[in-house]
Amino acid sequence: MKEVLVIGSGIAGMACAVRCAEQGAHVTLVSPYPSERSQSVMAAGGINAVTEQCEDGDSVASHIEDTLKGGCWIGGKDAVTGLCSSAKDTLAYLESIGTVFSLDQEGRPLRRAFGGQSHKRTYFCGSSTGKQIVSALVMEVRRHEAAGSIERRLRMHFHSALIESGECYGALLYDEQARGLVPVYASAVVMAVGGQNALFSKTTGSVLCDGYAAGRLFLQGALLKNLEFIQFHPTTLETDQKRILITEAVRGEGGRLFYEDDGQRVYFMEDKYGPKGNLMTRDVVSREIYATGKNVFLDISFLSDRLISQRLQEVRDLCRKYRGIDVSKQPIPVAPSVHFFMGGLAVHLNHETNIERLYAVGECASMYHGANRLGGNSLLAALYGGRVAADDLCAREDAPRHPDFARTRAREQRLLDAASESKSVFPVAYMRDMLADTMRAHMGIARTEESLTQGLVDVEYYQSVAGQINYDTSVSAYENYSLAGILATAHASLSCALAQRESRGSHWRSDAPQTLDDYAYATLVSYNDGAYNVWLDKEREYES
Ligand SMILES: Cc1cc2nc3c(=O)[nH]c(=O)nc-3n(C[C@H](O)[C@H](O)[C@H](O)COP(=O)(O)OP(=O)(O)OC[C@H]3O[C@@H](n4cnc5c(N)ncnc54)[C@H](O)[C@@H]3O)c2cc1C
Repeated sequence: MKEVLVIGSGIAGMACAVRCAEQGAHVTLVSPYPSERSQSVMAAGGINAVTEQCEDGDSVASHIEDTLKGGCWIGGKDAVTGLCSSAKDTLAYLESIGTVFSLDQEGRPLRRAFGGQSHKRTYFCGSSTGKQIVSALVMEVRRHEAAGSIERRLRMHFHSALIESGECYGALLYDEQARGLVPVYASAVVMAVGGQNALFSKTTGSVLCDGYAAGRLFLQGALLKNLEFIQFHPTTLETDQKRILITEAVRGEGGRLFYEDDGQRVYFMEDKYGPKGNLMTRDVVSREIYATGKNVFLDISFLSDRLISQRLQEVRDLCRKYRGIDVSKQPIPVAPSVHFFMGGLAVHLNHETNIERLYAVGECASMYHGANRLGGNSLLAALYGGRVAADDLCAREDAPRHPDFARTRAREQRLLDAASESKSVFPVAYMRDMLADTMRAHMGIARTEESLTQGLVDVEYYQSVAGQINYDTSVSAYENYSLAGILATAHASLSCALAQRESRGSHWRSDAPQTLDDYAYATLVSYNDGAYNVWLDKEREYES
């Protein structure tokens, strides 16, 4: 029986695991926490698909066009075509496993408008689309667990991949309970570990998705791609701990952005872009908000109470709970914040990385979204990518090779022991905070050569000291050993942003505002003996 190891159990990891199990494989599905705590649960707005119910004039071709255009033409055409063409089947699959989408009074599925899309094609489940999809997939995973084809292992963190001659044959995992490393051998390993939120700390996403795995695999030879493209969501609400997303669905339902000038409201997006101005792509709206230099608000007080309760109740609750704002009477103060990482592990169309039998799916893989992701396309990509990877790896010959890795494991274990037994109390959290300050200051919405260079100087300094410090043993060993991988991801991201002397989508160089044809390719970065090498994927080997 084919052994598959899936690391990460959000929507992408579960979709992949279930599909592998359906094809007769045995899957070990690992994550530190249950799926119900994955970031996927937070997705509120919806998922895109063109179906028979969509409005007149909409088509799969239009979904493809919007996605490529929104990604500023560096999303690979073949990849995006596959994603959008199969969206209807993806939706049907979700319904078949029990996801219940919101319906109108005649029982037809409702759709809402989302940014950068020429038609209403975002299907949703009230304001908890992610939660509903996760619940349905959890039930599927349980069914396969009962049948013995999926084995779930919690409190396990990725440590490193087991690689021999460019081929992956398993992974070392850190077992929090046993406080040690455990090898898991597999015919294929699928990374489904989400985005890189630890780089910026205060984002709309989950702190459990920290960018460590991408960085560690990078140091082990995996290519990373498009790291300069970090999506700032235009409408987030500031709180002490984090930035709370005010979903694009609010603007999809008619919400209006404005600032005040001399006591008068200025609807700056509508003034500049016309009636659809509030629903321009996220990169455009974020830049415009940034450019106003003013406090910006989002108004939905004119929407009916019924519509807010039925479709935007979560937003109402969040605003009331965290800021005491009554959205039916007061505007919501909003500001852009880091939300999504278009960059990540470089994968081919089948979702395999440059390391054989090592796959990446969901937000940790860079594939469909180019320089800017459209709202509603990420859940779609997580489901589609998970299933594409599963089909590909299940169709392959097995490679049952378990080389003797005892020496590697002994070395890694010694490092882990050193991190766990040190008597000093260097707080890794402090270093992480410094990193986040650096990234926010130097790789924000607007970047310049000067700011990015300063960011690199800072990160190189953190890397130089991180190797020499004794760690705080009161925190999990994962906290300690993950620092090096997170710093490597940060270093690679700054290197990509510095190398790209043009502006495209979410990568806005205020010292190089032009978009150049020469740069209409994905950015790749590799690590070799301390060097971070950046180049453009002119062969289109890794479809964006
Ligand atoms: C607030 C918010 C709202 C959103 N709304 C929408 C929306 O409406 N529509 C849309 O399309 N997209 C939306 N997105 C984006 C979308 O939710 C995510 O991109 C998508 O859910 C990612 O799924 P995933 O399976 O790749 O990752 P995740 O759901 O993040 O799962 C990652 C998994 O990996 C595990 N993991 C992480 N690190 C490790 C490690 N080192 N070792 C082992 N396991 C690890 C985690 O515990 C988790 O189980 C939203 C995002 C946010 C933050």
